[in-house]
Amino acid sequence: MLRTIYNGQLRLSNVGQNVELVGWVAKKRNLGSLLFIDLRDRTGIIQLLINSEQIVVPDVRNEYLLHVFGVVKQKAVANNLLATGEVEVEVSKLEVINKAETTPLIIANETDALEEVRLKYRYLDLRRPTMQDKLIKRAQIVRSTHQYLDQNGFIEIETPILTKSTPGGARDFLVASRLHPGSFYALPQSPQIYKQLLMISGLERYYQIAKCFRDEDLRADRQPDFTQIDLETSFLNQDEILTLTEGLLHKIFLETVNYDLPLPLPRLTYEQALHTYGSDKPDLRYGLKIVNIKDIFENNQNTFFVDNTHIIAIKVANFAEQATRKVLDNYNLTAKKFKLASYAMLKYSSGELVGSLVKLFSAQEILALKTKLDLTEHDVVFIAASPLEDAAYFGLGALRTQVAKDLNLIDDQIYSLLWVTDFPLFETSDEGRLVAAHHPFTRPHDEDLALLKTNPAQVRAQAYDIVINGYEAGGGSLRIYDRDLQNQIFTLLGMSEEAIRFKFGFFVDAFNYGTPPHGGIALGLDRMTMILTGTDNIRDVIAFPKNLAGVSPMSEEPTTVDQQQLIDLHLKIVE
Ligand code: ASP
Repeated sequence: MLRTIYNGQLRLSNVGQNVELVGWVAKKRNLGSLLFIDLRDRTGIIQLLINSEQIVVPDVRNEYLLHVFGVVKQKAVANNLLATGEVEVEVSKLEVINKAETTPLIIANETDALEEVRLKYRYLDLRRPTMQDKLIKRAQIVRSTHQYLDQNGFIEIETPILTKSTPGGARDFLVASRLHPGSFYALPQSPQIYKQLLMISGLERYYQIAKCFRDEDLRADRQPDFTQIDLETSFLNQDEILTLTEGLLHKIFLETVNYDLPLPLPRLTYEQALHTYGSDKPDLRYGLKIVNIKDIFENNQNTFFVDNTHIIAIKVANFAEQATRKVLDNYNLTAKKFKLASYAMLKYSSGELVGSLVKLFSAQEILALKTKLDLTEHDVVFIAASPLEDAAYFGLGALRTQVAKDLNLIDDQIYSLLWVTDFPLFETSDEGRLVAAHHPFTRPHDEDLALLKTNPAQVRAQAYDIVINGYEAGGGSLRIYDRDLQNQIFTLLGMSEEAIRFKFGFFVDAFNYGTPPHGGIALGLDRMTMILTGTDNIRDVIAFPKNLAGVSPMSEEPTTVDQQQLIDLHLKIVE
């Protein structure tokens, strides 16, 4: 052992002790014959005091790795910025274990380095205490998870990484088989099928900290390989699964950020979330609720009111002064992005409602609007209208989020957690096909089963998402456990008999052998860590992430490979 104590542990109680330390030079100051060094290890920084008239001092520069002996002294004036700030170590011997070149980025919590540089020299970026803190919190989340699930009878089981391609969700990453020319494995998008098979096996409670792979366009909160806390149970109903998961979240929040999550968490159905917040992942840290104002204009014959089945509004208090042209142009862009063709802004000032839409209102309608929205001076009203429910609500929901950010309405001292339940079972693709909203194994509500034949778009799923601070932080569902129903869903999704056999034959066969009712959930470990470490960049909570182009600037994958490797895999690159 090269040390007797960690640097960050030194306190007044250690004064007088002889210590042996290791660490990297974070900072160096010369004061004549006195040299001060801030020595950093994983636990923190301690100030070293070196008298060059008394000991031999080798050349020391930033990020040199040192081994020192010394005695702990109380400082005359404490440094409140450091946890160790009341003491320093007077050095009696100092050795350089290894030198360092000038680093390409500043190794401190604050660094001005571009993210590409940080990713290229990730091993140095990870020397920054703030980055280490994020990885340590991540490890705490994982530790709490293992403890909780173990205590609750869950068995950790690994599932394969080389799996069968079952296209339908996101795009698969494929791995060519050397032994089977022309055949491919797929990296798992999630362990979904395996965890359901484990329920059929009778293991009852499975979990895994699972790596998942999806070849999708990347975003600030998305990586091609990411991690889920994945679990599945048999014989529990939806309520029991949500309660069990709440217990896990409570433990994680308490042990990671010392936040005592009030339980039970609020629950909204998908329909309630959409109609109140214009989102299936609403952030409840601010209000700005949506109000349906269609009824006010029941007798208005103008096409704006007649053609738009959905006319809805949000009121933003005290916004009139700040709602400048520039701000509004931004909102126009958002409305466009969400295909919200008809949207308008009104101001309430000097007791009057002002805005281009107002000329279409009767005096009675203006009064009704004032009353319904409880308008006062300087309020702003955003109105969204559309024949399509999704365009109106998601569009206004996006504006709601933007307004909250612009007006700083979000209290970042609290966490907003809620369940969103009863999602539609299907979505309609751009080509008008039915696609599974969650995945094809999700169980429909029993009372909606008849609708599968008549109006499948109306069928609700026994599916749930956990939403944290406006992020979808996880989701799951009860699963179908009846072979015929599973086949019916595959067929509704446009799969032929042969396609079902080819892709899911083994899975459907397993349903013949006493499948238990089961369900589960997967929580996004990366997103949860983002939220609990206060970053909105997923790359900050992954030790070695890819950039937005899916490239690692450090090791440079993806790369070309040797011709021989391609030959072995029976592959040829076609330009
Ligand atoms: N496997 C699902 C997913 O990755 C989660 C689940 O249904 O348990 O979204």
